Amino acid sequence: MDIVYGPVKSQRYGSTLGINLLGAEKVCSYNCVYCSLGPTQLTMNKIRKDYVFPSLDQVRNAFKEYIKKSVPSEAVVVSGNGEPTLHAEFEEAMKLITSLRDEHLPGVKVVVLTNGAHLDNKKVVNGLNLADERVIKIDAGNDVLMQKFNDPLIRINMAKFLSGFRKLKDYTVQSLFCLGEFDNTAADAVDEWIEVLGMIKPKAVQICTLSRPSPAFPGLQPADEDALYGIAFKLKKRTSLEASVFSIQKT
Ligand code: SF4
Repeated sequence: MDIVYGPVKSQRYGSTLGINLLGAEKVCSYNCVYCSLGPTQLTMNKIRKDYVFPSLDQVRNAFKEYIKKSVPSEAVVVSGNGEPTLHAEFEEAMKLITSLRDEHLPGVKVVVLTNGAHLDNKKVVNGLNLADERVIKIDAGNDVLMQKFNDPLIRINMAKFLSGFRKLKDYTVQSLFCLGEFDNTAADAVDEWIEVLGMIKPKAVQICTLSRPSPAFPGLQPADEDALYGIAFKLKKRTSLEASVFSIQKT
C-alpha cells in the first residue's frame, strides 16, 4: 500500500484519499481475528525500536504527487496498514496532513481510523484531536471478548481503554460483528457492548461485518443484515444512540 492511495469508495465517507503512515508492513498493536491485513507479525518491541516509518517529507511529497492528479475527495482518511497512531511522529504527521488539507483540499474532512489503544500517550491524543473525526474500534463490552477478538499485543483492558476516551474532543465508535469461530453477536455480548456505549456516549456509531473471509480465521462468518439491524435497534432502545449499519467491513 502506498503512503497516499485512492480514491477509495467508502460507504460512509464517499470518495476518499487514504493515508498510510505505516509503510509496507502491517504495523499494529492489535491482532484482530477478522483483520483483512492478516495476522500481526511485528512485535511491539520491533515496532518501537527498529521499524522505519515513512518520514514526514515522504508523506508530504506523496500527498502533493497524488493531488496533482486532481482526484476528487470527500474525505482524507488516515488508516492504512494497521494502527496509524503508532507512527513515531503521529502528532506531527497529523499537523502536516491537516495543513496539506487546508492548503489543497479546503473543506474536506480529515478522519482517523484507530484502535484507540494508545490514548495514554499525550501526543497520540493531541494528534487525534487535530482530526475532524476520530473513529475508534470497539468490538466487545468485556475484557474476555476484547482479548479474544482484538488480541492486543500490549497490556490493556476495558477500564484502561475507556478511561482515555474523555481526553478526546469527541469520537465515533465502529464495531464489527461476526460469528463462527469467534462470535460477538450473542445476546449477553451485545448487552455488554451496549452498556459500554451507553457509558461513553459516542457522537456516532457504525456497525459493520466482514466483507471477506478473514485471512487468519477462514471459519469466521459475517453477521447477516437482520442481526446487525437488530443490534442497532437494541442500542437505540436502551441508550437512544443511533447506529449506522454497513453490510461490509468499513473503510
Ligand atoms: S486494529 Fe485494525 S489493523 Fe489492527 S489488527 Fe485490528 S483490524 Fe487489523
